[in-house]
Order: sequence, then structure tokens, then C-alpha cells
Amino acid sequence: PQANLFSALRAAFPKQMEQIAVEAVGPDGRSLYYTWADLDRGSARMANLLQSLQLPEGSRIAVQVEKSVEAMMLYLATLRAGYVFLPLNTAYQGAEMEYFISDAEPAVVVCAPGNFGWVSKLAFNRGVGHVYTLGTDRTGTLLERAAHHGDAQEPVARRADDLAAILYTSGTTGRSKGAMLTHGNLLTNAATLKVYWGWQEGDVLIHALPIFHVHGLFVAIHGALINGSPMIWFSRFEPAAVIDRFKDATVFMGVPTLYVRMLADARLDREKAAHMRLFISGSAPMLIETFRAWRRRTGHAILERYGMSETIMLTSNPYAADPRFDNQDERRGGTVGFPLPGVGVRVQGDDGQPLGRGEIGNIQVQGPNVFKGYWRMPEKTAEEFTADGWFKTGDVGMQDERGYFSIVGRSKDLIISGGYNVYPAEVEGFINELPGVDESAVIGVPHPDFGEVGVAVIVPRAGAQIDGQAVIDTLRAQLAHFKVPKRCYVVDSLPRNTMGKVQKKLLRDQYAREFA
Ligand code: ATP
Ligand code: MG
Repeated sequence: PQANLFSALRAAFPKQMEQIAVEAVGPDGRSLYYTWADLDRGSARMANLLQSLQLPEGSRIAVQVEKSVEAMMLYLATLRAGYVFLPLNTAYQGAEMEYFISDAEPAVVVCAPGNFGWVSKLAFNRGVGHVYTLGTDRTGTLLERAAHHGDAQEPVARRADDLAAILYTSGTTGRSKGAMLTHGNLLTNAATLKVYWGWQEGDVLIHALPIFHVHGLFVAIHGALINGSPMIWFSRFEPAAVIDRFKDATVFMGVPTLYVRMLADARLDREKAAHMRLFISGSAPMLIETFRAWRRRTGHAILERYGMSETIMLTSNPYAADPRFDNQDERRGGTVGFPLPGVGVRVQGDDGQPLGRGEIGNIQVQGPNVFKGYWRMPEKTAEEFTADGWFKTGDVGMQDERGYFSIVGRSKDLIISGGYNVYPAEVEGFINELPGVDESAVIGVPHPDFGEVGVAVIVPRAGAQIDGQAVIDTLRAQLAHFKVPKRCYVVDSLPRNTMGKVQKKLLRDQYAREFA
């Protein structure tokens, strides 16, 4: 049977193909409209172009372009043509692109027109056969070539375990790895989320995330398409512009920083958000303070969920009562909710022993959403699976008595100080509750006596003064002394990547010699 993901998405398009599928809001505030027929025909043309190149089976199509509806069509076209989509962060420069192109050996590279010079040189040197350009205003050689091809195309037959995409991880803990995702991984996850998040007729998604990452590319785009729902599409996130469109939409997905930026807009209130059905957050931990502030201002409890490049979505707070967990329907800030239906989530100790509710340990997962392995890293892949076939997420967390999971940090961020385990997220939670603190990061740095000690990097609220020693004194009254950071540094902001993840690696490097 045909298991090409595109076929499943296409089957969900509305019968009236001339209805609007995407309203792309331009930087000048003016919109361009795309119908369902436009998405279908545009992606068919590009798929026909790709097929005309007669690339080998399994060829990778590497894409580093600014966000546009055409870039989404290129993703759909790659699925249709049966090739493997490989999106790349638009922030990547020469050395990074060199790594990804050498590692992935794509057959086709599509880049921004302004980068053609250096990208094509790099690509041709590495044996890439075809380099096209795609601009944000429907310019570039990709569309020029595709225009010569027909606007009908029959999706190439794919099996559920054929590769659909390679997503490089964000590189938060080390070098980015290519996660190989299949048509089956993507489709089962999309189908599960459609039900779990109660997608319904009349839904409209505000899409304001980048599309080189799981969140914007899979969770958001698949979510809308598989429900036949239109999108209001922002190429870049503008808090005021997004808030102004809540009245025309029902679903919004964002990383925590997007919510923080919207909260800074004084106009955000209940009325503005009255038409919305669901606000979803993920990709990085959301501060409980953000969750509470959003509820106070809009009346909506943000639904936080948890996933990763290797597995797509794993857990979610409930949208509606979840009968598997005593019909609980509460969205609890600071947690990532329940395992999605069909997904197994367990917590193990460092020696592989199963841990009970309330015990902190390594999060491992299993399910039809779990990837096929890391691209050309068989040993790394083998290392990251347990003997009984569960994937080690690298995240540390626990499941509480009521069944909700929470993420306490990453195993690589775990600080082992004088033999004791310190979970940075726990300490950060205490620091963030202190008056005058906006946010914080606790990291481990080398120490001659303790091996490693925790230090805190703290961002004060606007106008607030923070005394590092006073923070330490307060924490000593609240926490076991081995958990209390040895020093506190006050800074203006934490280093973050485009997905809002704090770059602890950078902080560790910066403070590495403080006790040396
Ligand atoms: P790398 O694997 O290269 O170090 P990365 O893990 O940051 O980078 P991604 O796959 O983009 O790359 O991110 C997945 C990670 O994001 C998860 O393992 C988890 O640590 C974090 N994450 C995602 N959603 C949440 C959430 N709701 N709360 C806390 N952490 C989250
Ligand atoms: Mg990771």
C-alpha cells in the first residue's frame, strides 16, 4: 500500500480546492493568498523537476532558504518525488554548511539567492550535481525550472519505513547529528496529534516558527495540512502582528521565548485571545512564571509538550480529559504532560534499573514515532538504544504520582559535585522564584576539590538589582548545600539559539576557568 506521507496529507485537503490554504503575511503587512490547488500544483511542478533529474533512490535534497510558502512546497515536492528532505538552519555559515554538505552528501542543494556564490562553490566541490536558488519573493532558479514542468504528479510509492527526512539536531549538547525519519514516523505522529489536540473543522493555525526544525516543519505544518486547515503564515515572528491575528485563528504554536515576547506587549488581553482555541509550547522548557502570566492575561492555559528531532512528539499535556490518566484534563505548567497514545515513556536509573513515580532518572522512549537511526553513525545509534530497544533521549526527568512527566534537565548537563548529583533545572527553579530574577542557568564548571561545582548565571528583571552573594545565602536556607551554586554571575541575557534553547555549552566554556 502507498505509505507516502504526502498522499495522506493530500487526502485531507478540502474538496473545494479553490479555498485559501495559506495567507502569507508580508513584511509590509500585505498578504499573499495560496489556495489548496496552488499548494498541490506548485509542489507537483517541483516534484516533476526533481524527478526529471533522475537522482538515485534515497537522494537527499538539502535546503537552506529563508521561510516562504514555496519552501514548504519544496518540502511537499520532495516527499512526492520520494526523496529525502534535509532542512538546514538559515543561520549556518561556511564551516557549518561544509560539515552538513560533506556529511549528508545531498544530490541537490537549494539556497538563498544571495548565498549562491559561496554555497554553490562549496556544493560543487563536494560533488553535488544541482544547486538551485529560492528567494522569499517567488524568485530564484528553482521556480524558473519548475515552471517548465507539469502541474500534476502521482506521488512515488513509498513504504512506511522509507526515509522521508533527515533532521539535524540543534547541536545543544555537541555536534549536530542527522536524525533519519521515515514516512511512517511522521504520519503516525501527525495522526496522533490531530486527535490528541482536538483538531477540528474551522481551525486556523498561526504559523510563525522557522521551518528547518521539527516544531515548525512537522508539528505545525502537518497539523494544519492533515486537518485540511488553513494557515496564517508569518515569515518572521512579530509579536504585535501575531497578536492582531488571534481574532482570525484558533491554534498557535510557539517556543517559550515567543510567549515571553508577546507578554511584553501591553495590548495582549483576554479579548485579543478570545477567538483562540489552543496555545501550544515546546522545544525548550517554559518557565512556570510565563505559563501563569499567560493564563492571567489571556485566560488560556498553554499546553506544553515535549519532543525531539529523533522522535518528533513524545508527551503532551492534555487538551481534553485523558481517560488513561483518570480523566485528568488539567494542563500543568512546568510539566510536559502524558505520553502520547502509542508512545512508551519510562524512567531508568543510571544502572538500568526501572524507577518509580517521583524518582528522577533517564527518560527512554519507544514507539512508531522513533527514528531509524543517526545518519551514517551506526555506533552512535547503537549506543543510544537500550538492549531492549528503547531510545535514550538524553533528557532527565520524572513522572509524578498523577502521571505527568517533567523534564529536569539533560544528562549531559547533570552536575556531579563531590559525588552528588545536582540537577540544574531544580536549582534554576528556586532561583527563578527569587524577587528581581528574570531567568537563570545553572552550569557545572571544573573544580579542583569537588571535580565539578555548579555556578549560576542570572538575568535580572528590568530595573532590578541582584546581589549574587544574597542569592547564595537564600538558597542555602532552601536547598541541600551541595546543590547551592558556588558563585552567581549577573548578566544581561542568556545565549540562545533560534529555537530559544539556552546554549549551556557556551556558558560552560565561558566560565570553565573560574576555579582552576
Ligand atoms: P542536540 O541533540 O544536538 O544536543 P537538541 O537536543 O537541543 O540538540 P532538538 O532535537 O532540536 O536538539 O531538541 C530536543 C530537545 O529539546 C529535547 O531532548 C529536550 O531536551 C528539549 N525540549 C523539547 N521540548 C521541551 C520541553 N517542553 N521542555 C523541556 N525541554 C524540551
Ligand atoms: Mg538532542
